Amino acid sequence: MIIILKPDIRRDSPGIQQVLDLAERFPGVTARVHVVEGSSRSLMEIYLIGSTADVPLEPFQDLDVVERVVRISEKYRILGRHKGQIESEGFQYQGITFDQETLHVAPGLCAVDNREHVDQMFAACQELGIQTSRMGAYKPRTSPYDFQGLGKPCLPYVFESAGKHDIKVIAMEITHESHIDEINTALDEAGSPTGVMVQIGTRNAQNFELLKFVGRQQRFPVLFKRGMGITLEESLNACEYVASEGNGRIILCLRGMKTNLGDPHRNFVDFAHVPTVKRLTRMPVCIDPSHSVGSRAVGSDGLTDIHHATAQGVVAGANLVLVDFHPAPLKALCDGPQALTLDELRPYLEDIAIVREAYEKRRKRAQKPAGDARSAGA
Ligand code: PEP
Ligand code: MN
Repeated sequence: MIIILKPDIRRDSPGIQQVLDLAERFPGVTARVHVVEGSSRSLMEIYLIGSTADVPLEPFQDLDVVERVVRISEKYRILGRHKGQIESEGFQYQGITFDQETLHVAPGLCAVDNREHVDQMFAACQELGIQTSRMGAYKPRTSPYDFQGLGKPCLPYVFESAGKHDIKVIAMEITHESHIDEINTALDEAGSPTGVMVQIGTRNAQNFELLKFVGRQQRFPVLFKRGMGITLEESLNACEYVASEGNGRIILCLRGMKTNLGDPHRNFVDFAHVPTVKRLTRMPVCIDPSHSVGSRAVGSDGLTDIHHATAQGVVAGANLVLVDFHPAPLKALCDGPQALTLDELRPYLEDIAIVREAYEKRRKRAQKPAGDARSAGA
């Protein structure tokens, strides 16, 4: 059961204690207070977990601080979009709002290879006003003989360079709990010049112990990449593992599905699921066109398949674009064939802006009453 409190009720309001006291009267029920930071307002929700089947709604509904009470039967208890829940499960991190309304682009290196490339990448972002990026330090590779990422030693210069170029958030994959400790220490030692969004890669999508671990820590939000060979429902349940441990700051990233039916793309592009995830849950949705398409092949119209896949995700309402760039893709130690070059960043962002405008127009038009749309010649 979810008890949604009236807008802008503060965490220390006595009304919250009243709800908790009332919940305590029901045996086998535990209450957990949850703050949802929306872009326009913050919402407080109290989850009643356990044997709630016989708990009546009315006594909670009658309390002054309560806006409404929702009984949930659906699977995604925390992240799901339950009946009556309109606000998306957004959050603020490093002064940036991530929710189902906003759009950010995070271009960066698939894998850190040297300091110079990191600097060049961040400088290119800064020049174009981009404050979100990606940098892989720990790489889960199919073959043990492939480059495994530079790991801990590269963190100090990655964070220092990010601070120098005003990068606020870096998406960085971890494959083991100890990587969080390493990131924590390196960030502290550098004086926290930037922030990290911890990425759970597709290969760890059902590593439940790792999911619970990132759910228990509160410092970093989580970018969860859809499992490449599991259903959407299984991936959403995996996100629920993170949220149920206490960290609801999660973005789900679509990155294509593994099947040879997607050939010649690396993975079968699944961006038609952007609106589906936004309907089923309140999480912001990210798309990763680079790992979906897997090459920078150019089409007959002069646009790469990566541009087209990006456009498909953005026109469907994606909230974050995670995309591989590299100053010298031929020298990249991981996924060079899918990296765009730095001089392609500006036109790529311009292309996204065109498509985002189209999405905003489509959304406005859909929200108008049907008569208005007809009179507008639709
Ligand atoms: C990545 O983003 O570098 C990556 C390895 O992605 P995925 O887990 O989607 O393969
Ligand atoms: Mn990669």
